[in-house]
Amino acid sequence: MIKAIVSACLVGLRTRYDGNSSPDPELLEMFRRGELLPLCPEQLGGLPTPREPFEFVGGDGEAMLKGQAKLIGKRTNTDGSRFFIRGAQEVLKVVKFLNIKKAYLKEGSPSCGVNWVHVDGKIVKGCGVTACILKMHGVELEGRLPPKK
Ligand code: SF4
Repeated sequence: MIKAIVSACLVGLRTRYDGNSSPDPELLEMFRRGELLPLCPEQLGGLPTPREPFEFVGGDGEAMLKGQAKLIGKRTNTDGSRFFIRGAQEVLKVVKFLNIKKAYLKEGSPSCGVNWVHVDGKIVKGCGVTACILKMHGVELEGRLPPKK
C-alpha cells in the first residue's frame, strides 16, 4: 500500500536536471515494498530531462508563490517559474486524489527542497516550490540528501 510520495530521483529514476538520479538506500527499500509513489514535479511541469539547472532569484519557493522571487535558468537566463508552479500543482493533485499525507523530498532542489535551496548563488534555508505547496496543504515533509555546504 502506498504510504507516501517520493522525489523520483531518490528511488533511482533518472529525472534530475543532469539526467542522473540520487538514490537513497532506505527509500529504495520502501519503494521495493510498494510503499512509495515516485513523482518528479519538474517533469510533470513540462520541463525536459536533461534540462538546464534553475536557481531562485530573490527568495525561495514561498517567496516565489507570493510573486517576490523567480526561478531563472542558469544557462539561458530565462524565467522558468511557470513550469515549477505547474509541476507543484500536478503533484498536489495526485496527493489529494490519493489522500497521501507524507512526502520524502530531495533537499536542495528548487522544486523538492524541504529545508535548503539555492538562492542567488548560495545555499540558504528555505523550501522548493512543490515542497512549499505540499506543506501549505498539510502534507508532512521529510528532506533527504542535504546539499554539501
Ligand atoms: S524535481 Fe524533485 S524529483 Fe525531479 S529531479 Fe529534481 S529533486 Fe528529483
